[in-house]
Amino acid sequence: MADSNILPIEFVDLKKQRARIGEKIDSAIARVLEHGQFILGPEVKQFEDALKQFCGAKHAIACSNGTDAIALCMMALKVRPGDAVLLPAFTFAATAEVVAWLGATAIFCDVHPDTFNLDVASLKSGLDTAQAKGLKPKGVIAVDLFGLPADYEAIEAFCKNNGLWLICDSAQGFGGTYKGRTTGTFGTFTTTSFFPAKPLGCYGDGGAVFTDDDEMAQLLQSLRFHGKGSDKYDNVRIGMNARLDTLQAAILLEKLAVYADEIEARNRVAAAYTARLSDVAVTPIVPADCQSIWAQYTLTLPQGTDRAALAAALKDKGIPTAVYYPKPLHQQTAYKHYPVAGNGIPVCEDLAGRVISLPMHPYLSDEQIAYITETFRESLGRTQAAAA
Ligand SMILES: *Cc1c(COP(=O)(O)O)cnc(C)c1O
Repeated sequence: MADSNILPIEFVDLKKQRARIGEKIDSAIARVLEHGQFILGPEVKQFEDALKQFCGAKHAIACSNGTDAIALCMMALKVRPGDAVLLPAFTFAATAEVVAWLGATAIFCDVHPDTFNLDVASLKSGLDTAQAKGLKPKGVIAVDLFGLPADYEAIEAFCKNNGLWLICDSAQGFGGTYKGRTTGTFGTFTTTSFFPAKPLGCYGDGGAVFTDDDEMAQLLQSLRFHGKGSDKYDNVRIGMNARLDTLQAAILLEKLAVYADEIEARNRVAAAYTARLSDVAVTPIVPADCQSIWAQYTLTLPQGTDRAALAAALKDKGIPTAVYYPKPLHQQTAYKHYPVAGNGIPVCEDLAGRVISLPMHPYLSDEQIAYITETFRESLGRTQAAAA
């Protein structure tokens, strides 16, 4: 049995981060309680400035959560019924949910088996599918799944050639890099989430939108505040209540200060996992000139592995795992009436049956990593022997 230096292992360990910066966060919270500007207080602007600086985007607009962030972009882009939006089916439901809010049609596209991210070949067939159904293709939502930036060179070229806008759903990928650029600087908009379990998480809900477009940035500020004009009681358009709380901004400022260091630590964990597991499962691939922030470390198990038995065996040994995502969106009750690209999206379906994510956070020790990988190898071997 593992000793007390190793267990417990948390899937995401926020307590260890708190041990490191908890005092700073407590003082930041106390400052907000003292000044009392709970809505759009000074920390919100400070945090937006720090976010811009971190990724190099011209504008950062903090908002209520990662789902509303996508909604604000789609409202700014005037998405409406009859419009088609192309997006991957292997993602969290929020990516498609917002398309449905605006009455538009999601067209589910396939992903690359090695990166879990959008496959441009499938986007091409998705465009044909939309046109065949009499819909107007308007845009693409790419997802930086598990922290790895999507293939933006190919996706941006596809969007440009077809007159489509691009929203990058980087709820899992803020701070990742692709050919020298950081997420936040691709597409018309990039959105992110500060849900507590995301790599940059607050203590509640939060999100942000990034854009280089001055007019769009102004429009987003209005949309997140009930469509306000120059005065908050002069409402010039239909908007939402989608602001980030000052308290969350104050917390996030402290977390952003250690974020680059945490990303490095996540990469250390991922590299160790890959070195010790690549001969028994398909380990995640990071293309040349890219860096993942490892929102999840996700393995693809060999065909025929009893994934539930493996997860149960690991749980018995104190190792939590998760399956992101057990069902692609086009197979879910709320979304199965939307079209899929071309002749189907087999990679999404195959991955959903075979992926498993290991504990991932910046504070996993070398002993914990060794215990997780050794136990994984043993348990996988035993699961396979039982099935044979
Ligand atoms: C978490 C997540 C969202 C939604 O973010 P919330 O802040 O929870 O609303 C959207 N897209 C993806 C890919 C996500 O992982």
